[in-house]
Amino acid sequence: MKCSKCRREAIIYQRYSGLHLCEQHFNRDFEAKAKRAIREHRWIQSGDTVAVALSGDGDSSALLYFLSRLLRERRDIRLMAITVDEGIRGYREPRRARAIADSLGVPWVTASFAKEYGITLDEIVGRKGAELACSYCGVLRQALMNRIACEHGVTKFAYGFNLDDGARSVLTSVLRGDADRLIHPVQEVEGMVPRIKPFMCIPGSEVALYASLNVEGFDLAECPYAVGALQGDARRILDEYTSRHPATKYSLVNLGEALREPGCGDGEGLRRCERCGELSGGRICRVCQVIEEVRGFRSKGPDED
Ligand SMILES: [Zn+2]
Ligand SMILES: [Zn+2]
Repeated sequence: MKCSKCRREAIIYQRYSGLHLCEQHFNRDFEAKAKRAIREHRWIQSGDTVAVALSGDGDSSALLYFLSRLLRERRDIRLMAITVDEGIRGYREPRRARAIADSLGVPWVTASFAKEYGITLDEIVGRKGAELACSYCGVLRQALMNRIACEHGVTKFAYGFNLDDGARSVLTSVLRGDADRLIHPVQEVEGMVPRIKPFMCIPGSEVALYASLNVEGFDLAECPYAVGALQGDARRILDEYTSRHPATKYSLVNLGEALREPGCGDGEGLRRCERCGELSGGRICRVCQVIEEVRGFRSKGPDED
């Protein structure tokens, strides 16, 4: 099959657009979509320091590659990569993420659960079982990312979330009947560095293709603890339904954006955590709650040594 825009051989057929695209036109189309998302949300401005949350998987590696190209000529915008080592044996060595950042000439920093919290995710699972691994991990990773970001003057956090991730999270909230999650998505936590998602309108399969065409050495492994049953079912339902109705994922992401309450995340009703001094919705912040739960004793406070 030939490319719809030139005479070269096509490497992909986009059902939702009806286009066959060659490698060059696919890359161009992909980058135009990501740029449009950034422009429409006014996500990156002069003076910004943008950090990519680089796990080393295809999505985050593709994002670092894309942003390093986009910002190459911009002397007024800094780009860096941050990798968190959760401490999962045999899964995603931070050195792979580092190699990708190095190959693109992007400054890279790392931090680990072991150093920051004195416990690895494997140890947490050993004590608490795998059921809550993802929610514990999410809370701890986000807090650690945020702390490193603040140390480095980061103003925007870039995540490799794609269209499938966004659609799945909206569908999962709907299937759970979780109206609160739809109106106040977790991304909008007060006191956190704002998140941007340049690939939010690009299907996961295209992000994977863009990564495989442009980045070497990214990690294909799935997290051994990412086994949420509802998430897996939602993915299957979504993929099956989308094969017959190509616009479904876009509709869900648009629904999520429409339901999101504007102005949430303005920091109202916040106070300082009594343990660590970070901003918190309650007396004790979620990180300190998780640490207490998984370690069985309280974490170090700001005035203790
Ligand atoms: Zn072409
Ligand atoms: Zn706290």
